[in-house]
Amino acid sequence: MKLIIASNNNHKLIEIKAILGGLFEEILSMREAGIEHETIEDGSTFMENAVKKAKEIAEISGCCALADDSGICVDALDGAPGIYSARFCGHHGDDEANNRLLLEKLKGRENRGAHYTCAIALVYPDGRQVCAEGYMYGQIGHEEKGENGFGYDPLFFLPEYGCTAAQLSPEQKNLISHRASALHALLEKLRME
Ligand code: IMP
Repeated sequence: MKLIIASNNNHKLIEIKAILGGLFEEILSMREAGIEHETIEDGSTFMENAVKKAKEIAEISGCCALADDSGICVDALDGAPGIYSARFCGHHGDDEANNRLLLEKLKGRENRGAHYTCAIALVYPDGRQVCAEGYMYGQIGHEEKGENGFGYDPLFFLPEYGCTAAQLSPEQKNLISHRASALHALLEKLRME
């Protein structure tokens, strides 16, 4: 069976292919499948957004589709920015401004606990859904450290590793990330089908 990933992000595609490659004849990005589509992400949870994206691509393509939605949840901010992680500062995709705002909001706060969440949904052409979630736990640091990764990684300190997610190599991060953990959970569910 062919699987279409509701994303054109190369890093995600490589990670998804590495973990789910054995289960599908072919794994294609939307671009590779010739699909141009923007889902309006108006769900109230990561999973609602992931399911909506995967459903729309499965309907358009008539193939199996997989989508993910992820973000960072900060304990002292009652789980914010959560599903609004990409636009925490008010506009989309400005990592620097998002990190600055996060540091500002946590100024003087002792509780620095946070986790990344990744929700993954796989939708079959007949509408059947298989869903899984994964997490990565850490602490929000007091300054940015590291050059790798993206988004909140330079602030995301991993106590077990003694460094931020941006100081891990991409290979190391892919082993422990919320996305990897969601993909492995999904793989287990698919294997049991
Ligand atoms: P998306 O679901 O992959 O589009 O991620 C939404 C937003 O969550 C990103 O723009 C980042 O701000 C944040 N995010 C998700 N995963 C990560 C990660 O692994 N590192 C850093 N930031 C992340």
